[in-house]
Amino acid sequence: MADSSKTEKFQLYVPEFKDLCDVLQKGLRKNFAEVQVCVVECPDLTQDPFRFPVKGLCGKPRITDVGGVPYLVPLVKVDKEYNMNSVSKDVELPGAFILGAGAVSSKTVGMNAELMPLVLTEDEGRPAVNASWLSSINPAGGQCLLEKYSDQFPDCNFGLLANLFACEGKPGKVIEVRATRRTGEESLVGSLRKTMEEQYPDKSLALGGTFIIQKGKAKIHIMPREFSACPLNTNDDVNEWLKHFEVSAPLICQTVLVSRDPGLDLRVEHTHCFSYHGEGGHYYTDTTPDTVEYLGYFMPAEWVYRIDRPHSTHQVGRD
Ligand SMILES: [Zn+2]
Repeated sequence: MADSSKTEKFQLYVPEFKDLCDVLQKGLRKNFAEVQVCVVECPDLTQDPFRFPVKGLCGKPRITDVGGVPYLVPLVKVDKEYNMNSVSKDVELPGAFILGAGAVSSKTVGMNAELMPLVLTEDEGRPAVNASWLSSINPAGGQCLLEKYSDQFPDCNFGLLANLFACEGKPGKVIEVRATRRTGEESLVGSLRKTMEEQYPDKSLALGGTFIIQKGKAKIHIMPREFSACPLNTNDDVNEWLKHFEVSAPLICQTVLVSRDPGLDLRVEHTHCFSYHGEGGHYYTDTTPDTVEYLGYFMPAEWVYRIDRPHSTHQVGRD
């Protein structure tokens, strides 16, 4: 488990929602043919297609970067295991709802796999509700095997690394993004992030939330069940080791993005997706720019917490 005394925190800049909408509206137009960004009441996230354990993304929004890629490559550190209930305390929000992108604990799961965390953490007198998904390589056939985490395991553990958004899970105002037909090179997440980086060059802003790829296909990866026995020293080594797939809409994606790293060695964007047709994993971008349709709900975070930051770091494998 992480030593919580090592947790660092940094206050993020949160613009007026209306101003941020105007900025994102303008910025996304560089990469999408049709864009509509506005402030809305968060839809009820307990409903389809989300099926989250809470209604909304509001109430003390914050993000955290736990562990990191340096615990996975060049060689795995299998003892790096964390727990969502502990993380909720580390981010000073016990009982928080947590979503994002991470890796399973190989100790718990018995193999390596992608994790799509969706956890209402435990609070006094209330047990945790784990609605997470995990995606692994099916040993029979080498395709994607997407499973509900709680169907297999009773805990809220994870391993190695995660980028997480935490909040009270309340209803309230959020930023809705509709983007259709991609005309630029950036993914939706990259476009949101770079827009904020350009508009607020001397500040750090972060968004967490969920978006649906309603039409089209997406490029994803899934980590193999076995860690690499030989060191993965370059991005090419990592990409060679990862299993890449093209998957189909509808995909429900959970994302955490930071416009600018305030010096905490953050992964500045990380997105994992699940579906109800057996596909899910680590999202890069869509592969169908002419037909793609995105609908997302995002919340600016007020704080970033850095938990169990690796002592020795590198930039390999952060795509
Ligand atoms: Zn990932």
